[in-house]
Amino acid sequence: MNVQRLDKGHNSQQDGSSLEGERSSTALVPLKTTLESRASDSVIEVYITAVPIKKASSTLNIIRNVVPKDGGHDLQHLRRFAKHRDVPQHVRGPTLQGGTSDHIFLILAVTSVISQDMLIESLSPTLEVVSLYSIQVPRLAPTSQEQASQWTSRYWPTVYKKNNPFGPHPSIVSRAEDEIRGDAEIWMGLAARAASNSKASGFGEEVGVAIIERKNGTARPVAVAGDARWLNWPRDERGNATAHATLRGIAMVADALRRDSSEYGDAESPATDDDLEIFESKPNSRTEEENQQVPANGDGYLCHELEIYCTHEPCVMCSMAIVHSRFGRVVFKHRMPSTGGLCADGELRHGLFWRKELNWTLLAWQLQSPASSNSYLICAQQPTEEIPESVVSNPARILNA
Ligand SMILES: [Zn+2]
Repeated sequence: MNVQRLDKGHNSQQDGSSLEGERSSTALVPLKTTLESRASDSVIEVYITAVPIKKASSTLNIIRNVVPKDGGHDLQHLRRFAKHRDVPQHVRGPTLQGGTSDHIFLILAVTSVISQDMLIESLSPTLEVVSLYSIQVPRLAPTSQEQASQWTSRYWPTVYKKNNPFGPHPSIVSRAEDEIRGDAEIWMGLAARAASNSKASGFGEEVGVAIIERKNGTARPVAVAGDARWLNWPRDERGNATAHATLRGIAMVADALRRDSSEYGDAESPATDDDLEIFESKPNSRTEEENQQVPANGDGYLCHELEIYCTHEPCVMCSMAIVHSRFGRVVFKHRMPSTGGLCADGELRHGLFWRKELNWTLLAWQLQSPASSNSYLICAQQPTEEIPESVVSNPARILNA
């Protein structure tokens, strides 16, 4: 099964069949990084004053001398000067006495870097009256126009500079979304089919992944894996963690590459399939078997720039495996707040897809759609392997993925 991209996102074909109906409602929601999550609720306190417009720039010059480089704080995302009509009521209110049309508000300094007395002493020679007020402002730059607007009405005029110091650049994210929007539901449907097979066969929980290679506008699966934690494993509390769907999928990619290199007589390829048996990397359903293909890349990193579609947010172990294998993109459907490793705003807050201290970062989305329960409709284009009605499970019941 190959999916070719025909235009920017909204029109692709699967084996010649149109799936337009399901796709139109797809929403890819980029995950927030750990830094973005922290940025959204972090504020600092600054001193402001109202100055006559004629003295605005000379007052700022004084401040730049008294507090060079704002004492190490980056205030570039905040308007230094603000007119009365541009600040929230709680800022405008107590300073109205200085607030006529020939006055303007000015952020002087972060309160922790200079005392009130020193500020007043420095400004007194220039300003007849120095009235200081302290207000809260966002500590870090906003990561969207929407956030900048919210902060402007809540704190102080805030500027969005169309970049993101705390995660992937917005233009990179939107270009990637244009590429995957058209067929993300298809690959998620394939992952859901593997999940259903796992559940129906009793091998594992209803969790699945599809690993996709996308080159020159054409996407194709290279591995599809369902969870197999109960396969050849006692029914203890957690099952075989190395048989989680993500690890199985990665192991399948490894197997395909290994078999491919042994066919070409590569002396260094490992010997037998038995070596990796604990990973349950052998396909155990027709869906898994039919979709195992050798990816084109061979640069030493197993899944370099591949995409992985997961029915559930991968657990911390699987999230790290995704990072280590150097996937380019990860898309999941159900959040797993207590065990997932990707989200930065769940209970664990690891945000592993984008951590500057790790040596690989990738893009991550949650796939949300009102038609999400219709994943099986998409799969129905290629009949599933007898999925009973009862397997449509409550994701919260699954401990981890
Ligand atoms: Zn896992």
